Amino acid sequence: MKQLSLMIDLNRCIGCSTCIVACRNYHEIIDHALAMPNEIPYYIRVESRERGVFPNVGVDTWVMPCQHCPDPKCLLSCPERAISKDAETGIVRIDRETCNGCKTIPETMAAEKIKINPCTAHCPAHINIEGYIGLAANGKYKEALALIKAENPFPSICGRVCFHPCETHCNRGEIDEPVSIRALHRFLADLDLKAETRYVPPVKDRKDGKVAIVGSGPAGLTCAYYLAQEGYQVAIFEKAPVPGGMLTLGIPAYRLPRDVIEGEIQVIRDMGVEMKTGVDFGRDVTVAELRGEGYGAFFFGVGSQVCKKIGIDGEDLTGIHPAYDFLMKVNIQTPPSLGKRVVVIGGGNAAFDAARSARRLGAEEVIIAYRRGMEEMPASQAEIQEAEAEGVQIKTLIYPVRFIGTENRVRSVEFIKMRLTEPDESGRKKPEPIPGTEFTLDADDVIVTIGQQTDWSCLTSDEGFFQVDPVTLQGRDPDIFAGGDAVTGPRTVVEAIAAGKEAAISIDRHFRGVDLHENRVKDWTYTAKVQKEKFDPAGRAPMSLRDPGEREKDFNEVCLGLTEETARQEAARCQSCGCACIQSCPYGVIQYSFQKKSSHKCDLCFERIHVGEMPVCAEVCLTDAITFGEHELVRQQAEDRGKKILKNLSRESILYVK
Ligand SMILES: Cc1cc2nc3c(=O)[nH]c(=O)nc-3n(C[C@H](O)[C@H](O)[C@H](O)COP(=O)(O)OP(=O)(O)OC[C@H]3O[C@@H](n4cnc5c(N)ncnc54)[C@H](O)[C@@H]3O)c2cc1C
Repeated sequence: MKQLSLMIDLNRCIGCSTCIVACRNYHEIIDHALAMPNEIPYYIRVESRERGVFPNVGVDTWVMPCQHCPDPKCLLSCPERAISKDAETGIVRIDRETCNGCKTIPETMAAEKIKINPCTAHCPAHINIEGYIGLAANGKYKEALALIKAENPFPSICGRVCFHPCETHCNRGEIDEPVSIRALHRFLADLDLKAETRYVPPVKDRKDGKVAIVGSGPAGLTCAYYLAQEGYQVAIFEKAPVPGGMLTLGIPAYRLPRDVIEGEIQVIRDMGVEMKTGVDFGRDVTVAELRGEGYGAFFFGVGSQVCKKIGIDGEDLTGIHPAYDFLMKVNIQTPPSLGKRVVVIGGGNAAFDAARSARRLGAEEVIIAYRRGMEEMPASQAEIQEAEAEGVQIKTLIYPVRFIGTENRVRSVEFIKMRLTEPDESGRKKPEPIPGTEFTLDADDVIVTIGQQTDWSCLTSDEGFFQVDPVTLQGRDPDIFAGGDAVTGPRTVVEAIAAGKEAAISIDRHFRGVDLHENRVKDWTYTAKVQKEKFDPAGRAPMSLRDPGEREKDFNEVCLGLTEETARQEAARCQSCGCACIQSCPYGVIQYSFQKKSSHKCDLCFERIHVGEMPVCAEVCLTDAITFGEHELVRQQAEDRGKKILKNLSRESILYVK
């Protein structure tokens, strides 16, 4: 069957709704009171930018039908295999009998359906969390991993170190405890790491465009991953001898084993991305040189790697280590030799990484000195507990005044006691020194975790500009993009992943000459509706840890992960707040019917077109505004009707059916 299209002529539509009524009648979709606001359950959804769903008329009105994607994410995400793609026509269909609305069984399961799940909304990479958990609960591990990898190339890494905002906002937390989303990520990805045949995403036919990526942290690697999938020729230039950025150079191996990082990076190599390590961009090679070699776009994911100075006397004494320099040396197997007593200044995760690493390097006494109280400490609770179990001491409400040394080597730190006053702009109580409370702590070594900043010397001033458009990540030069910590300052792995993904979308559009801004910002507002009474409390599966006495002696992994049994139990705790397919659809065209307790969407009147009839909407249209037929003819007709239609002929207003 030839590729078919459905098109609406916006100039002819008079907003009479006949098509909608016909669609609703034909497909037996009945309006009902439970419909969410702005969610009217029929297949043709008419929208107006100005007047909301289902306005009367307007040139600003368009239909948003199903695109019948070549590689539909909704199909991938369905735990019940209720979604299929017809082999002959390419039409994507939802089987109403099989679809259970993602566990919507009245009175027994499920929160009231919401369009956007809080977990997906709060994940910076917007992973279809409900979808992959639903697949995992059904034992469909490979499908679950493929669904994660559609949005995030590093599930094994994020399954270990992500700060999991998804769990913080999980509706299940209002009943007992949030679902262990991060641990499930890890479980699925680790299965793949151990598999004989790894999952490698499909790569499209090779395109001419050449992209240079500077920095192989999660931002740069992610950008490469998505551009490689689109068929671009991608080369990564990395200053360090190994790829991975802070994953490899900052985060210690006992939290993130090196073979896990290497395993996930290998997939990107297998997709054809070239990795050139040991290249200091800006010094060894420049933008101008690579432009001359035909590179058409650049992504700078150079991170935020320059340690800030604390700015007190004695900072240059031997034995004082900026945290990142210290951790990098540990991570590249050239650790400094430490004395017996180590003081770590700071209260974030980097401080704990440094302190726990110092213990593992043999320091007998390791003290974390933090200027606020325990409640204000930015490090995660798990990190604090694990460190304390390993013998790390924590002293709060103290701040260093000067480092004291003899023979150019640090011997002690003078501190002053602090008290907390009104909250500052970060919302945390502001610390202020208490005069006359100075005291000293002996220290053989001091590790300072004050903060990081970006070194932009890789871009000479006439070539680049590090301020970028916040949506497209494009810089002043149209072929230069930047993202991750380099632009935001030190943040998180998953935020760097999200930036790399957005940059890849922009670079692809840049090559195709498409508007970089169009349809980029999705509304992630959600309504949390937990039906607590429908659930029996069931605590989350515990993550087992190695014994503290044993683990503080080496850099082997501390957390041991979930077993298959506990992973399945944990996955079953997910309430399915929404429907997996609805979360996946990039066009927002799948809807949930409260009446039928299932999802539904346009199937182009599959039965009708198979017996040579038109889709009902096209048949009933009073003004002949809906055209259905072979794609090229429809397009030609659109062109014949004049420029205005073409201008409005966005990708969303045409259906492609092979
Ligand atoms: C100790 C520590 C622990 C952390 N723990 C966590 C955690 O548990 N969870 C979490 O989510 N986040 C954590 N983070 C933060 C996280 O690692 C970063 O937010 C993330 O790695 C940023 O990714 P990026 O790609 O933007 O930059 P980076 O990971 O910093 O990568 C930048 C890369 O660019 C390279 N580069 C720089 N300049 C050049 C140049 N001129 N030429 C070529 N290459 C260059 C660098 O060598 C580096 O490889 C931690 C950070 C640190 C320091």
